[in-house]
Amino acid sequence: MATRPFRAPHHTISEAGLVGGRSIPMPGEISLAHNGVLFLDELPEFNRRTLEVLRQPLEDGSVTISRARSTTRFPADFMLVAALNPCPCGYRGDPRRSCQCTAPQVEKYMGKVSGPLLDRIDIHLEGPAVPFRELSASRPGTSSGQMREAVLAARMRQAARFGDGSGRGPRSNARMSSREIREHCRMDPAACELLRAAVADLGLSARAHDKVLRVARTISDLDAVDTISCAHVSEAINYRLLDRSLWQ
Ligand SMILES: [Zn+2]
Repeated sequence: MATRPFRAPHHTISEAGLVGGRSIPMPGEISLAHNGVLFLDELPEFNRRTLEVLRQPLEDGSVTISRARSTTRFPADFMLVAALNPCPCGYRGDPRRSCQCTAPQVEKYMGKVSGPLLDRIDIHLEGPAVPFRELSASRPGTSSGQMREAVLAARMRQAARFGDGSGRGPRSNARMSSREIREHCRMDPAACELLRAAVADLGLSARAHDKVLRVARTISDLDAVDTISCAHVSEAINYRLLDRSLWQ
């Protein structure tokens, strides 16, 4: 009970196995990952319908399973982490190997993950292939210990922001409502202008706009500053990789 769960179900998992169900409702992987991490490797390989049922729990932090005679609610406040290849062969955009996939193949592959689901994921990041000599060399960088310190400090700022520990209201920036975003995400004028331009040029949805602000709030918390600046907004926009028409 003292360790946060990490669940990594295989992509052949059934809808009931993932979200819960069966005739006598049982918790699924999303509930077993409550207060922890749900990792879905090779996201497009999951059944599309199975993925779609994640949308509501991602919003609510719980899942409701209705049966003819009863309704059961399980907690499901998990952090979704997913990985996918850029195309079926995996070499799209790799400078060292050429990708053999056709445009329709890439489109079909990416199309297995719906826009509304991607919209609910805060950070989209590309992990370029790492050359072997860099994998094997020990290079100076941020250690896990240093990262942990930075995360804990940012969490402290959030705890101070949201209050009394009564359990009411959000516990983290990711859970801020639109109203709380307006209250807590103060931007300097340049940051404001950058976000406005990004919404217009990249066609970000209202939900993506709010996500950019929540993530920018977290980046500025990591910097230990109160006002969100241009650099924070621009980093957060860069994490909306899959909103842009990258795959067309
Ligand atoms: Zn390919």
